[in-house]
Amino acid sequence: MPLKMFGKSQTLRNVIGIAAGKGGVGKSSLTVNLAYALQKLGYSVGILDADLYGPSIRRMLQEDSLPKQKEGRIVPAFSKGIPYISMSFFRSADKASCVRAPIANGLIGQFVRDVDWGSLDFLLIDFPPGTGDIQITLSQMANLTGALVITTPQKVAIDDVRKCIEMFDQVKIPLIGLVENMSYFQSKEGSEKNYLFGKDGGKELALERGIPLLGTIPIDPKIGQYLDAGESIFSSKEPVQGVFLEIGAALVSNLKEIKKSLRIVSLQLQDPFHFQIQWSDGLIHQYRFSDLQSKCPCAACIENPQVIENSVSAREVRNVGHYGIKIDFSSGCSHGIYGLDFLRELAK
Ligand code: ADP
Repeated sequence: MPLKMFGKSQTLRNVIGIAAGKGGVGKSSLTVNLAYALQKLGYSVGILDADLYGPSIRRMLQEDSLPKQKEGRIVPAFSKGIPYISMSFFRSADKASCVRAPIANGLIGQFVRDVDWGSLDFLLIDFPPGTGDIQITLSQMANLTGALVITTPQKVAIDDVRKCIEMFDQVKIPLIGLVENMSYFQSKEGSEKNYLFGKDGGKELALERGIPLLGTIPIDPKIGQYLDAGESIFSSKEPVQGVFLEIGAALVSNLKEIKKSLRIVSLQLQDPFHFQIQWSDGLIHQYRFSDLQSKCPCAACIENPQVIENSVSAREVRNVGHYGIKIDFSSGCSHGIYGLDFLRELAK
């Protein structure tokens, strides 16, 4: 059976998770306005609305074309040049609110693997609120380049976003930055700022966790008005669009820093028994499937070591987040996660 490499048919240069840990803080609004801002900065952008429990992206974007099935894959919807996919295309909104975790994981897997995103500079993923199994699985399956967290200055939102930061730390997804939303209200430009939800909550959290603060977004009814009408704030002259451009530019510059860290550039099958990893520092290493299976780090293989034949091959090799790979061996196990440090050490 041919080896199926995750994401082989598409080029997604940066996959960014946008998460809050809590609903109602402006995650979807940021996802959409950031997409417009990145587009304005000259990048190609797509959106995956993975907020299965409250998929609101469709209302905010309004499609020019609907998703289609083509040769067993899903062609995404398009709006103003942005390809996007949302749960709301496949289920009515009321049913979406009761998707159970295993089904949610399956749906998200389909969105990540079966949608033909083509070639994109950025795929922005609007995360479902929370920090449970679904969010962890999504972080791993989507092969995130990094995550961006959003909060309001209020203590209740900060507490949840702190959990969210811990989750990304746990799965070793780099945090690109934090955005504080609804930071203040100003009745007109130059007038006094009113800190309706407290002052600097997000800024302090960013300092505490050593995460760059990418920007602060004021409370501005125009943000909601344009999104509710499915129109881009960039089609207007509203001054608040400048904030999203600044966040977009800060995202791009912080990503450059993150990309300097070691990662896998490509996974390639050499022959039925070997595959090759090309690393971001230019090194290329070859591995034999049987060697790796004999060192499988999963609990079952450690407790019950098997005799491994040299003829072992694999059905699939895929990235797990940015910290390892998973191999579906032709015989036996598919559970072990081989960390990047382990693979580098083995290659020595
Ligand atoms: P989430 O995705 O976190 O649940 P949304 O992005 O759907 O939150 O935002 C919730 C509501 O708040 C929406 O009606 C949106 O228009 C509004 N909103 C978000 N950010 C702002 C802002 N900075 N100023 C005014 N309204 C905002």
